[in-house]
Amino acid sequence: MTTASYEKAPLHSSRGTICQGCWDQMHVPIPIRGALALPFRAFGITRSKMNPNICTICERAFQYVKKQRHVTADATILFADIRGFTNLSERMDVVKLSEMVSLFQGRCAEAIWAHDGIVNKQMGDGLMAIFNFPIVCTNHVAAAILAAQDIQRNCSAALRSLNIDPGASPDGAQDVRVDGGIGVGVGIHSGDVEIGEFSSFRSDFTAIGGVVNLAARLESQAAAGEILVSAAAAAQAEDLMAGTHTRSLVLKGIEQPVQARVLVTH
Ligand SMILES: [Zn+2]
Repeated sequence: MTTASYEKAPLHSSRGTICQGCWDQMHVPIPIRGALALPFRAFGITRSKMNPNICTICERAFQYVKKQRHVTADATILFADIRGFTNLSERMDVVKLSEMVSLFQGRCAEAIWAHDGIVNKQMGDGLMAIFNFPIVCTNHVAAAILAAQDIQRNCSAALRSLNIDPGASPDGAQDVRVDGGIGVGVGIHSGDVEIGEFSSFRSDFTAIGGVVNLAARLESQAAAGEILVSAAAAAQAEDLMAGTHTRSLVLKGIEQPVQARVLVTH
């Protein structure tokens, strides 16, 4: 785990036993661990799958927490996915594929939680994380970048341990080599996002807006092992940008080329 170069927000003295989201957003202590959490559990209030330090009130009762349908929040958005997954999914058997996806999702979540982010959405071989909501994080860009570096380190070790290349064909008869492109790509952007419950059939919150879209686009341009950080986000975490280079990206639907800093984890 990397040494954090950012200050975590002042925490309630019972960090870990109460929901950090409810505390940061409402200053209400909701017990999520220990004996005090038991009566809450009876009412279906448990730890969130988005982050075990927040509860299902802040996950599913956004309007109750914020007293509004949605809010504008300064946040950092991180997208990550397994590069080359589509290609792999045509050649690998489903057991190995699901093993790979759960390894990826598990390692990513650990890294994101360690830096107070939440895993807001999981989409098979990809995910979207939010930093600075609902857990407040003073330098959320730095938190996201450090999480991304942990993701790269943890996932590359885990993916290697799966020994993916030899004998990966579904019938086992061929020795299929998967050349290059196996690994994780990450995109990070920061700014104002709209956070709220935007779906009529899902009751949990998410973030939408241009910042979210650009973070997703950056991720789609990241090669295996790369972390693409928008220039705007990078400017808020210059101390983490040593050894990076700048890449100019022409993105569909965006007139001007977008400048991104490229971090490569070895
Ligand atoms: Zn909560």
